[in-house]
Amino acid sequence: MRTPLIAGNWKMNGSAALIESFGKTFASAALPANIDVVVIPPFPYLDAARHAFSNTPLQLGAQTLNPHHSGAHTGEVSGSMLKEFGVAYVLVGHSERRQLYRESDEQVFDRLLAALDTGLTPILCVGETLEERDAGRTMDVVLRQVGYIMARLAPEQRLQIVIAYEPVWAIGTGRTATPEQAQEVMAGIRAYQAGFDASLAEQLKLLYGGSMNASNAAELLAQPDIDGGLVGGASLKTDDFYAICQSAG
Ligand code: PEP
Repeated sequence: MRTPLIAGNWKMNGSAALIESFGKTFASAALPANIDVVVIPPFPYLDAARHAFSNTPLQLGAQTLNPHHSGAHTGEVSGSMLKEFGVAYVLVGHSERRQLYRESDEQVFDRLLAALDTGLTPILCVGETLEERDAGRTMDVVLRQVGYIMARLAPEQRLQIVIAYEPVWAIGTGRTATPEQAQEVMAGIRAYQAGFDASLAEQLKLLYGGSMNASNAAELLAQPDIDGGLVGGASLKTDDFYAICQSAG
């Protein structure tokens, strides 16, 4: 049985007030038993969030990390620094990083490996653009992104990652993949993993991301291969994010 995971990616948003609001709401929250909830704020908020969330079930994630542990990399943050400040998860390969900052599969892999090396759980984001979907290339693109990483990992490392399927055309657009569209791709990712190892495929946690909100979450999360959600915009509203977490039970 895979434990549902809901992760809220604040991107370059948030405030001290939002951290406080999450801390208050989730301290008294009656979340479904056995779900993991992760908040992923910008770096400067991590330490404040760690303190504000100490009486809540919320865990912490980071939005990226540098592959190096320390040194002359001005502006960057390493996995060991994140770990020291209570971070448990880190996004790698988010489409905004791939598109705006030109992160290649190779760079995504280096970051993912650094996450594993420092004991963080990487959430590997994959997904096709609208152009790629319209050209009928969705599965090729997604499996290339997944395959690049999986082929380079040792069997025990493959068990330590979470994969988020995020169709690029659905991120921040208000245009959600239908549950059937999401399920089709995510079943394909799981079937691909079965080629490495059937028990890996069974255990692998798959999240859907792309305009998930309080109204569409339950239907998406009811799909057999969707184990949770990576939520952007709706994670900036405490009540909406709380409602999404409720749908995951
Ligand atoms: C995201 O940032 O990963 C995301 C899915 O954003 P949104 O929910 O706003 O589409």
